[in-house]
Amino acid sequence: MNLKDELTVLKGIGPVKAEAFAKIGIKSLEDLIFTFPVRYEDRRNAVAVNRLVPGEPAVFRGMVVRTSKGPYRGKRGSLLKVTVSDGTGAVEIVFFKGGYLDKTFVRGRCFDFFGTPVSGKTGIQVIHPEFAVQGELMTGIVPVYHVSGALTQKDMRNSQKAVREFYKDASDSVTPEIEERYNLCSLEHELEGLHFPSSRRHYGEARYRAVFDEVLVLQTGLLLARTCSGNGEKGVALAKGRHEIEYTDKLPYTLTKAQKRCIDEICRDLEKESSISRLVQGDVGSGKTVVAEAAIYKTVACGYQAVLMAPTEILARQHFEGFKRNFGEFGIKVGFLSGSVKKSERTEILEELKNGEIQILIGTHALIQPDVEFCRLGLVVTDEQHRFGVSQRIKLKEKGENPNLLLMTATPIPRTLAVIFYGEFEVSVIDELPPGRIKVETKCVRGRRDECYSFVKNMIDRGQQAYVVTPLIDESDGLDVRSAGEVYSELKEKFPSVTIDIVHGGMKQAEKDAAMECFARGETDILVATVVIEVGINVPNATVMVIENAERFGLAQLHQLRGRVGRGSNKSYCFLITESESETALKRCETIERTNDGFYIAEEDLRLRGPGEIFGTSQHGLPDMHITAMTKHTDILEKAKNEALNILNEDPQLSEIRHAVIKSRVAELFGTDFKLNL
Ligand code: ADP
Ligand code: MG
Repeated sequence: MNLKDELTVLKGIGPVKAEAFAKIGIKSLEDLIFTFPVRYEDRRNAVAVNRLVPGEPAVFRGMVVRTSKGPYRGKRGSLLKVTVSDGTGAVEIVFFKGGYLDKTFVRGRCFDFFGTPVSGKTGIQVIHPEFAVQGELMTGIVPVYHVSGALTQKDMRNSQKAVREFYKDASDSVTPEIEERYNLCSLEHELEGLHFPSSRRHYGEARYRAVFDEVLVLQTGLLLARTCSGNGEKGVALAKGRHEIEYTDKLPYTLTKAQKRCIDEICRDLEKESSISRLVQGDVGSGKTVVAEAAIYKTVACGYQAVLMAPTEILARQHFEGFKRNFGEFGIKVGFLSGSVKKSERTEILEELKNGEIQILIGTHALIQPDVEFCRLGLVVTDEQHRFGVSQRIKLKEKGENPNLLLMTATPIPRTLAVIFYGEFEVSVIDELPPGRIKVETKCVRGRRDECYSFVKNMIDRGQQAYVVTPLIDESDGLDVRSAGEVYSELKEKFPSVTIDIVHGGMKQAEKDAAMECFARGETDILVATVVIEVGINVPNATVMVIENAERFGLAQLHQLRGRVGRGSNKSYCFLITESESETALKRCETIERTNDGFYIAEEDLRLRGPGEIFGTSQHGLPDMHITAMTKHTDILEKAKNEALNILNEDPQLSEIRHAVIKSRVAELFGTDFKLNL
């Protein structure tokens, strides 16, 4: 067997399972080896049933003494309750939608369980525990992997065990010299320690090396990207003068001090001979768009074109509508491009872009396509920057002759991380909200869903609008989570006189647009949605945000969602519905209830959950866990950065054999199709 082999060479993996693995990006044995657990469960201690404590995960065993079936969500016989006893006491195990398991849990049979007890009405219960016949449950320190679709933890763990013998063949991006210089453990020891740690210490050594490795690859890639992104080199320089004032003077409101300062910082930068890159950070609702507009105006007024890329079609369209209104007044032509623009229309837009007729182009990542050519591109703006990858940004920039770059993000980035990912950027911070904003009142709702929806109805009767956000599109088996479809039907039945609509990622673009437009025009009262509405959407008349299964969202996400209301002059409300008893969920809800401060929330998020939320993993492909470790071991950042510099000094093209592995990993992380000179 070879590490490049497909998974089907493993015992127990046929084409169907292999397909399921492929769906989460695992195709070869090597992919499997480098797919690390997202967390671990400490199952070293088994507990007697009478010692189970609510909230504390535990392994326990017992014999089935009784089972009973009941209805669940209107389906008869769908709920299964199993009472098990170990002589010290009895505990009730609950499976929603688990009626079929009555064939497994036969009276008198013994099982091992792992789960988190909760206190139920009739005593301690354990909902949906992991179970196996006695002796077969995985114990010790157990890795938990990300799985989805047809994949189970068991599939993952079994295959991980099967590839264990190949660790010694895995290719290593850390050279022996580096390993020695920084006293790192071997790759084999690292892999063992991440998948099957024998102790906390083993895990610690493994993770240190893993993080070093990740940062080394990342830094090498970023340094390469930097040298070819032309930052700081001669680029587009705009004429001196306060052109942007012509634009800002016409605004229907007064800019905040922070906005004025940022606009000034950016516009003076644009006049410099060298190409500039600037990150604009501002909390949800702080008014980043108008800051970008001012910079774009100056660019256009000085004879260049500007482009703005947004992460979702809905957001891009919203910007387009706004820009058409605002720039139309000045006779400036704005174009729009996304995957859903018709071919004939697209051809025309591309033509007008090339001959300079279109001065501002707005769109989604469809803007990156090679046939999108500008005539004089002077400024590239990305909105909600954390949603894009480095290579997307660079590709857009390559469409001009070293144009300026402006990145906007509502996600406050802790300093340590900012240094790694945005080291080359200047930063402007909008640390002030427009005046007159009333704080969104936030409430965590438990067991009082009906009251919450009566409140929603009340607000609608007053002419205001509401969002209801759910984590899923469709009902999904085995998960006790509300789906958009389910909530939509439920609300329609409950409030027949209210206009309700739905929008989710599974809908066609035209349908999504139509739904959003109706809502923006006030024709829809309640919009049921998935997180497609998370970023940037601006409908000031919407004053209520209801989030179902709030425990399924991260803090930063909850904050973003709440930011969709409180945008007009009416008092707004945000309700977090959850039945979860998990401590993290409770903490999160409490934090959101208590504060509106995005920077504070980001720090809490980092503490509670790791930086995945703060820093979309899509951007860099790093596991959350590693980034968390980076923020703790800042020495790794320094060391790995120095090593990356060393490597590129000695071997600028990474053409030496000893750098072959790191080269291929950089290429994998950043994509090979932009000019990394690889
Ligand atoms: P975000 O920073 O979240 O992208 P937006 O740019 O969408 O925020 O701005 C949110 C809303 O605030 C918009 O309706 C915008 O017109 C309005 N706005 C921006 N700046 C000001 C200001 N200085 N005074 C009043 N309203 C403003
Ligand atoms: Mg915005």
